[in-house]
Amino acid sequence: PLVSDSEQLPFPVLCGKIHDRIAAFLEEKDMSPKLKQVQEQTRISLGVIEEALDRYSLPELSLAYNGGKDCLVLLILYLCALHTKGCSRAAPDTNEHPAIQCVYIQAPDPFAEVEEFVASSTRTYSLSLLEYAKPMKAAFADYLHDTPQVKAIFVGTRRTDPHGEHLTHFDRTDHGWPDFMRIHPVIDWHYVEIWTFIRHLNIPYCILYDRGYTSLGGTRDTHPNPALRKPLSTQGNVPNGTANGTTTPKFRPAYELIDDYEERLGRDK
Ligand code: ATP
Repeated sequence: PLVSDSEQLPFPVLCGKIHDRIAAFLEEKDMSPKLKQVQEQTRISLGVIEEALDRYSLPELSLAYNGGKDCLVLLILYLCALHTKGCSRAAPDTNEHPAIQCVYIQAPDPFAEVEEFVASSTRTYSLSLLEYAKPMKAAFADYLHDTPQVKAIFVGTRRTDPHGEHLTHFDRTDHGWPDFMRIHPVIDWHYVEIWTFIRHLNIPYCILYDRGYTSLGGTRDTHPNPALRKPLSTQGNVPNGTANGTTTPKFRPAYELIDDYEERLGRDK
């Protein structure tokens, strides 16, 4: 993998490693049209993140992180850009690495697998993550109260997500939301591009995606995506797909879905 949980690299080394891997990816030639498209998306997103780092100091920035695939790509690009901008080094006086501030809003009925991935990736990438268990608006209000220096938050929303249609790279909150700048570096990535990036760079991701979940919410409103259900004939001819004590998966993995608009078929309204 790009980085593994067991490595526990010092923060500047971690960012350098991610940077070098992405730089090598951007240099790769003779690629499929799909990978070329991902290279282009990567360049655009890094440009947005670098602009954010010009506009805001690190303590003013945070990342909305819930262990989902879109904010995972965003996190990796953020760590890459921190290296490019020389922001990953420890302060000479304290020798402490800069805090990568994150806010995680826990679903009322979270998946254990999501909680586990948020915890393991928080360790792997040395995140300073604050967690809130309340509705989004109230959680962001509390977060801004608890971290008054934060002015702008990276969000992994994409164009085809609910409310994503009219967003730009930088949008202030509106409609009575707590006031901050939302930064959307991956807004124009397609579903397939997200998975191509994650798999090409071998980035560890939440295990639920291998079980047919394509978008993660809480256990009550999130199911494997019906578009990924395997035909009955390939599931094993026994109840629950279990034969000889081994379970045959009933769903194909998330990365096999193609269509952006089918992504949320496993989510209740
Ligand atoms: P997936 O769609 O597979 O769940 P994702 O969670 O990254 O991936 P969305 O669910 O579309 O993407 O959410 C868009 C973005 O909003 C996330 O990338 C993240 O930045 C932010 N976000 C959504 N839910 C939460 C949450 N509970 N806590 C913190 N940030 C969140």
